[in-house]
Amino acid sequence: MSAKVWLVGAGPGDPELLTLKAVRALREADVVLIDDLVNTAVLEHCPNARVIPVGKRGGCRSTPQAFIHRLMLRYVRQGKCVVRLKGGDPCIFGRGGEEADWLRARDVEVELVNGITAGLAGATQCGISLTLRGISRGVTLVTAHTQDDSSLNWQALAQTGTTLVVYMGVAKLAEIRDSLLAGGLAAQTPVAMIENASLPQQRECRSSLADMQLDAATFQLKSPAILVIGAVAAFDQAEMTDWLQTQGSAG
Ligand code: SAH
Repeated sequence: MSAKVWLVGAGPGDPELLTLKAVRALREADVVLIDDLVNTAVLEHCPNARVIPVGKRGGCRSTPQAFIHRLMLRYVRQGKCVVRLKGGDPCIFGRGGEEADWLRARDVEVELVNGITAGLAGATQCGISLTLRGISRGVTLVTAHTQDDSSLNWQALAQTGTTLVVYMGVAKLAEIRDSLLAGGLAAQTPVAMIENASLPQQRECRSSLADMQLDAATFQLKSPAILVIGAVAAFDQAEMTDWLQTQGSAG
């Protein structure tokens, strides 16, 4: 196989949510650099590859990004097929674009492979339809965590009327609540907090904007988790079926 780097999304955790293309990349891999949120069960597709954990919890205590770049470059220049395996989708809060640019600037062939991002998977696995007809006309994916500590415009987000899906929010629940309340979002806005989405240990906690921080503490919500904020978060599968029946099939 020719030397190249595949930047691959491994999906949210359930190994069956891998794409066929991700499986093909893994089969071709000589070296796999794996992030900490990736379920290692997916490595069954690359039994002969050298696997290097590069995630914060993967044994390498926060591998610096520059080191990961150099590792990829070193192996691909040795003629190896390198798979950089990331949780969810490589380009949703995953630095996939950055890594692709860096490699392409050094004349490395790069291929990006989509994965199912945790925010979408978490909602669907709980029976929440993020764009439930008649309730939500859009979804906004945001991260509560920024490298430079710059703040999101939560006020603007509170006004969009779309469903909010928040990544990396577990440690910032009070801040998110206060900002959205200040931005005008109703205290009773439904919230679903979904931990370990798509894995056997998935847990979900339904709450409201006003109560989410206290409820999460009682529930002992832990990372990785996503938050779904908006009217759709009150619906489970049964309620959604009822709602759709009242709406008829038009629209
Ligand atoms: N590229 C990834 C996101 C990486 S950022 C993707 O597309 O999914 C890491 C954050 O993703 C976590 O803090 C958490 O908010 C979310 N996350 C990743 N895996 C998750 C899972 N199985 N369940 C819930 N949230 C998850």
